[in-house]
Amino acid sequence: MKCYECVQSGRSSEAVAVCRLCGAAICAEHVRTEKIQIRETANPGKVIHDQPARQLTCPVCRTAEESR
Ligand SMILES: [Zn+2]
Ligand SMILES: [Zn+2]
Repeated sequence: MKCYECVQSGRSSEAVAVCRLCGAAICAEHVRTEKIQIRETANPGKVIHDQPARQLTCPVCRTAEESR
C-alpha cells in the first residue's frame, strides 16, 4: 500500500502504518506516534488497563486532534 499523504503530493512511498482515525495508509515520514492512556471504565467486567497505548495517526488527523 502507498502512503496517502505522499500520493496527495504526487509522490509514492510505501506505507508502514494505518491511521487509526481515518484509516489512511501512511509512510514512516508522515506517521504521527502518540502515547495515550486507555481506561475502559464504560465496560464492567472488562480488564481495566492503565498501560499507555500507542496511537498512530496521519498528519491531518493529528492536526485535527490538536486543534480540538
Ligand atoms: Zn508519506
Ligand atoms: Zn487520519
